[in-house]
Amino acid sequence: MGNARRPFLAGNWKMFKTISEALQMAAKLKPAVMTVKDADIALCATFTLLKPLADSLKDSNIMVGAQDVYWEEKGAFTGEVAPGQLLDAGCACVVIGHSERRQFFGETDETVNKKTKAALKAGLLPIVAVGELLAQREAGTTMQVVGTQLAGGLAGLSAADAAKITIAYEPVWAIGTGKTASPAQAQEVHAFIRGELRKMFGGTAEQMRIQYGGSVKPDNVDELMRQPDIDGALVGGAALEAESFARIVKFARG
Ligand code: PEP
Repeated sequence: MGNARRPFLAGNWKMFKTISEALQMAAKLKPAVMTVKDADIALCATFTLLKPLADSLKDSNIMVGAQDVYWEEKGAFTGEVAPGQLLDAGCACVVIGHSERRQFFGETDETVNKKTKAALKAGLLPIVAVGELLAQREAGTTMQVVGTQLAGGLAGLSAADAAKITIAYEPVWAIGTGKTASPAQAQEVHAFIRGELRKMFGGTAEQMRIQYGGSVKPDNVDELMRQPDIDGALVGGAALEAESFARIVKFARG
């Protein structure tokens, strides 16, 4: 934690857990992290889990987030969920542009941009995910890819809006593979992202949190969090169990 930004640790449950499994996990996580006062904590779950999860975490320091959102407020958009509906279900934040949505569901920088603006307008905190494929890293185009995703995804936002956004840098080759980017590899891209944010939003970039995601585990979180531009984590597999996610939330400070 080499900076003044408040760490933000978010779990992404992907398409896992029934309501009862979610509530069991939440009941274990709540006491395990209730003493943590110096970080923001969130669990991002599938739509069906949001309301019961948010109700069960109402009196806790754990926010609930969704994993996607649509950009219209209401209307004939069968299967979609509006920002206001997420708020109504108890959500505080939403992941936008996760690589699985980009890869399998046609998410583009343009739709990320529309969703981010709509989420902000409704009062949700967006977690905007960016990251390169293995082939792009190997071709040496990581910064170009991430730069394009940032420019497109955050186009037209004011610095005041940007201050509410968290960026999740998730190299696609590290997601769910057990292959973590080394702390130095991650820091290099985080510093690049901070520079791009500075170009777009000036001094506000210093306030914006950049999470690392990609096989974050209890045994690698401490070193990742020591990097000056890593302000948190977006955690998939290791956030499914209370014990491992609590350990990640309680990464070594200082
Ligand atoms: C993710 O789901 O965003 C993720 C980073 O998954 P994992 O931690 O399992 O690699």
